[in-house]
Amino acid sequence: MSPTHQPRVRFAPSPTGYLHVGSARTALFNWLYARSTGGTMVLRIEDTDESRNRPELTQAIFEYLEWLGIDYDEGPLYQSERRERHREAVQQLLGDGRAYLCDADDNEIPGTEMADGRAVRFRTPEGTTVIDDVIRGEVAVDHAQLGDFVIWRSDGSPTFVLANAADDADMAITHAIRGEDLLSSTPRAVLVSEALSATPPIYAHLPLLVNEQRKKLSKRRDDVSLESYQQRGFLAPAMANYLALLGWGPRDGVEIRPMAEIIEQFRLEDVNKAPAFFDRAKLEHFNGVYIRELSPEELLEALTPYLESDQMPWPTERYRPEVVAAMAPLVQEKLRTLSDIERQVDWLFCPDPPMDEASWDKAVVRGRASAEILDGAIAALADCPWDSESVKDAVFAVGEANGVNRSKSQAPVRVAVTGRSVGPPLFEPMVQHLSREEVLRRLRDARSQL
Ligand code: GLU
Repeated sequence: MSPTHQPRVRFAPSPTGYLHVGSARTALFNWLYARSTGGTMVLRIEDTDESRNRPELTQAIFEYLEWLGIDYDEGPLYQSERRERHREAVQQLLGDGRAYLCDADDNEIPGTEMADGRAVRFRTPEGTTVIDDVIRGEVAVDHAQLGDFVIWRSDGSPTFVLANAADDADMAITHAIRGEDLLSSTPRAVLVSEALSATPPIYAHLPLLVNEQRKKLSKRRDDVSLESYQQRGFLAPAMANYLALLGWGPRDGVEIRPMAEIIEQFRLEDVNKAPAFFDRAKLEHFNGVYIRELSPEELLEALTPYLESDQMPWPTERYRPEVVAAMAPLVQEKLRTLSDIERQVDWLFCPDPPMDEASWDKAVVRGRASAEILDGAIAALADCPWDSESVKDAVFAVGEANGVNRSKSQAPVRVAVTGRSVGPPLFEPMVQHLSREEVLRRLRDARSQL
């Protein structure tokens, strides 16, 4: 293939809201297609709706594309800067009799010169447009369903379909890979494109993303903004890997893998048309796998912004980075998001760690012999050597004397000291980072509440 035949794709977001997982998936699939074919990726900001665009939303698009590792070869191009070109395109269609002027009551009026206060409608011919969609196959639409549609508003702005089709033509876009929600506008775009004597791009409409209830993901119902995933501590490579599988899968079935391999495996024709389930549990699983692959230094670096934020439940002056450095490798395999670290270490920094009611119930109140174990532990830990082996042996001996096994004897102690029945290894960090007085105080507090 000569270079001129190489694919040219574009990601064309409208900056009317924060980048959500659906748009990120669209950007990623365009990028994967470009990178797997040696094609060109264009970023076009469709910012013609001046009432809804906000510059910070465009900035956020750049930021999150970069976060995900999606780069582009051309752009950003701003659709709003192409108003004159859009006007020219409409003027051309008017001149060719493919469009007509409308008055304020939306009636056709004679003439071919655009003027303030005049809208322009496309004169839809009779017939049928067949879109040969890479993913959905042939989609035939009878023009009677389309009617004569507006391409230029009386306020002097182009409509979405005009700007979109004219830009794809001018930018020599070969493949329009985009969300299925845009499919209904495609026949109009094809008509406009052909009337401008351009070759419309090949379309590939990506399947809808749905939630557990098989309902379309929505901003109101679901957690969809990329920002919120980043803030909760999803790693960009895990997120990008997961997004790549929303509607597509590699032929060899290996799902968790480096992006370079995904690029190698990616085939646009392998994308499914069935709705793709945005499965948060699976995303968390992926993220856990990526977190476990971090080196100790990388892990610490990734966790630090969470631990140092003022959202944490402990007084900032009690936070000690060296404690986290010691703890991080011990809890690495339990983390599914970076923000999970809070619950692993809060007991080491909070004077009174948050008590988890369910754990309290399970391990202390209903657990057999809890009062005896706490009494025994308070007595034993008052003077045993303050090292993890001695403390562990002392607690287990108390359990044995009360006829309970090791894990049952540890449970009330763990809940009293950490606030929860599950968590990191207990004894080692406890003796290292908490004083004997502090531990005894927590044990007595817990005992007094039984
Ligand atoms: N600007 C459109 C949107 O954000 C996408 C247009 C396209 O990809 O063709 O929904």
